[in-house]
Amino acid sequence: MAPDGLALLIATAELRAGVARLARRIDRDYADTGLVLVCLLKGAVIFASDLLRELRVEVRRVEYIRASSYGGGTESSGNVRIEGTPAAEQIAGEHVLLVDDIADTGHTGAAVMEYIRGLGPASLRYCALLDKPERRAAAVQCDYVGFTIPNHFVVGYGMDRDERYRGLPAVYYFPQG
Ligand code: 5GP
Ligand code: MG
Repeated sequence: MAPDGLALLIATAELRAGVARLARRIDRDYADTGLVLVCLLKGAVIFASDLLRELRVEVRRVEYIRASSYGGGTESSGNVRIEGTPAAEQIAGEHVLLVDDIADTGHTGAAVMEYIRGLGPASLRYCALLDKPERRAAAVQCDYVGFTIPNHFVVGYGMDRDERYRGLPAVYYFPQG
């Protein structure tokens, strides 16, 4: 049973299958080069960990980057603060895959992609477990998407509301919110 009146959106088995599907595509696309995985903190931690274990291609290193948006209330604004960044020598010349939990307005993905691009990777792509295309405000291309979802606020599988619910093993939404 889900706590606090949460409704199930994506069950654990579906998540597992979705992550495996993404991993097979990424394996094919990076077979000749390997890749560096960059996990966007905090929400993508569980997704990135499962994806990492599912990949068969060479993962040359795993880096983490923290992004938060300020001045925008609950919705991500154009002002994205980027912290805890990898050093340029860890990215330069590498085939980099940025791993995110949700592409919502797209502001965060766009800002972090621009930041990483500035470190000189050989290539750069964006992978989001979930995509809410209805909400897109910033131009960001999602190269890999696990699930396209309607405009609900979701929690679980790493994703929070005020830091709660990250440990739920499936993705849930608030039916009345
Ligand atoms: P964006 O900048 O694309 O609007 O989204 C930035 C971040 O907002 C996402 O990476 C995620 O951390 C958070 N976010 C957006 N939509 C949701 C949602 O439905 N649930 C949760 N828990 N976080 C969300
Ligand atoms: Mg968040």
